[in-house]
Amino acid sequence: MVTQTAQPHRHRRLLLAVAWLICTITLAAGAGQPAQVPSAGRSILVRAAQIIDGRGGPPIRNGAVLIRGDKIERIGPAEGLAADQVIDLGTGTVLPGLIDLHTHLTDEVGTNWESALLTTTPGRAAIYGAVNARTTLMAGFTTCRDMGPTWPYVDIDLRYAIDKGSVPGPRLQVPPGAQQYSDAELAVAVEEATRWNRFVAAHAHGAEGIKAALRAGVRTIDHGSMLDEEGARLLKEKGAYFAPTLYVGHTILNDNQSLNIPAHQVERERAMQGTQERAFKIALARQLPIAFATDAGVFPHGDNAREFKLRVGLGQPPMAAIEGATRIAADAIGWGDRVGTLQPGRFADLIAVAGDPIADVTELERVQFVMKAGTVYKAK
Ligand SMILES: [Zn+2]
Repeated sequence: MVTQTAQPHRHRRLLLAVAWLICTITLAAGAGQPAQVPSAGRSILVRAAQIIDGRGGPPIRNGAVLIRGDKIERIGPAEGLAADQVIDLGTGTVLPGLIDLHTHLTDEVGTNWESALLTTTPGRAAIYGAVNARTTLMAGFTTCRDMGPTWPYVDIDLRYAIDKGSVPGPRLQVPPGAQQYSDAELAVAVEEATRWNRFVAAHAHGAEGIKAALRAGVRTIDHGSMLDEEGARLLKEKGAYFAPTLYVGHTILNDNQSLNIPAHQVERERAMQGTQERAFKIALARQLPIAFATDAGVFPHGDNAREFKLRVGLGQPPMAAIEGATRIAADAIGWGDRVGTLQPGRFADLIAVAGDPIADVTELERVQFVMKAGTVYKAK
């Protein structure tokens, strides 16, 4: 939450996030390769009444995705396609695995981040990280950008265990440690984090903080609660991405007791009520690239897809909301060449829902089938 960033811990997360933003392109390569690669020659055909490829176009009716090994080989009408194994999802809809740009996978829900350093241990974070990674994958999120653990490097270790195939979980993009950045890069990161901190401490400067970050060349504006018209224009001009988080604010206001959110955070959220919706509507009107992000970890992992309903409720067409969690999110993290769309050569990261998410976007809250890199993790 933007209202929480004045705290030192959030400050550190922001620092890591900004550092990541600077280095995203150079570090993206080589991460996220799964270890449990299915045998290269084996083919699987996934069929369904409707296939959404993640690029925003009309769905393919009675379509199929042909998978060989861990990659997609072909996508199109099912007729005439054959494979070693056929998975028929009947009247359901197949989509690319979903992407969440803002998670805290090693955070145990209900352990407030303000006191987590005193009340948790790295071991506990690792155990809950493994549990949360599995829950998130089963909810249909096959890729996540993790925005920083309470304990350093637990997210790196989690990614290692997932990539090795020891723990089921999404492909993770994490900030891999400050020592990998040059002084100049760090200086910029620090400068930017400081600006954000000031912005958060004085809400009136919120819109200015967003613009300062954009001028410095950041790639995504996470939360972005006070984005204004000028900020939106600048974001478009700079080719950046807007990554709002609407659902987390909703949970802080409505579920603060069960989530153990301190009263002062609830009050700050209340004071900010309405600004996020306004910012989202500006982004819609300006046709900004809106990527999917949630802040999962503040609310229960696996509930990530509840963000969709709020976005659609504010006027975003369901197909655009889906594109935000597929093609646009993949492009935002520099992984558009491997995940986010169903195209030949991309990783076979597929999910399916029973109904039509265009008619009812909450279908995405009930993911029935999950495949990551050609391996089926969930089948109804
Ligand atoms: Zn966060």
